[in-house]
Amino acid sequence: MSYQIAIDGPAGAGKSTIAKMVSKQLNFVYVDTGAMYRALGYYCMKENIPADNEEEVVKLCMGADVSIRYIDGEQVVVLNGENVNGVIRTPEVGNMASAVSVYKDVRAKMVDIQQKLAVTENVVMDGRDIASVVLPNANLKIYLDAAVEVRAKRRFDELSAKGECPSYETILEEVKDRDYRDMHRDNSPLVRVPEAVLVDSSYMTIEEVAAAICAEFDKVK
Ligand code: C5P
Repeated sequence: MSYQIAIDGPAGAGKSTIAKMVSKQLNFVYVDTGAMYRALGYYCMKENIPADNEEEVVKLCMGADVSIRYIDGEQVVVLNGENVNGVIRTPEVGNMASAVSVYKDVRAKMVDIQQKLAVTENVVMDGRDIASVVLPNANLKIYLDAAVEVRAKRRFDELSAKGECPSYETILEEVKDRDYRDMHRDNSPLVRVPEAVLVDSSYMTIEEVAAAICAEFDKVK
């Protein structure tokens, strides 16, 4: 039997960084499900399909070959044979991922791939619907949150470090919009399931959050 740790939460709460750290410490496979939706968002952008055209988005996504591989322990998202890791991390692709992930058929296809991965491997999986839909029987469920201003400031710092000159106000509005869409969509909205342990990372270091999650896992394993 494999172990499953589900980590859900809003954009910028630190899910990927922390899930990656926890998976290394436990020697589990890390599955970044957001990257899969980002690959589809990127594909729609590349093909000039507007996110609000459900029929076209679904048609394109159903024909997309999305898979994940691990190279030197790093997750690589492969879209139609191409490694797209280098192009899916922009805020534009994040917003597009949020817009195309509202569609039921798109989600069903991604959930199927994610569930198959978790059958054979011990996984730390992060996303929005992991505890509620993808791994409802996960051994440990974490809801990782942080104040919206803190999450926007983290994005602002990330982009500034890359030499961009973002506007904090614009980023804050984008983060709020993405939260709203992810939490209010009809299909698999971001929810905190009652059994999930709430971790607020606003004033914690990455190491502290990872240690808190490993300690929770020790209790249930
Ligand atoms: O986590 P990340 O910012 O990479 O996710 C990008 C977008 O993909 C999210 O805003 C969300 O709309 C969508 N997503 C989702 N379900 C998941 C993971 C991500 O709907 N399990």
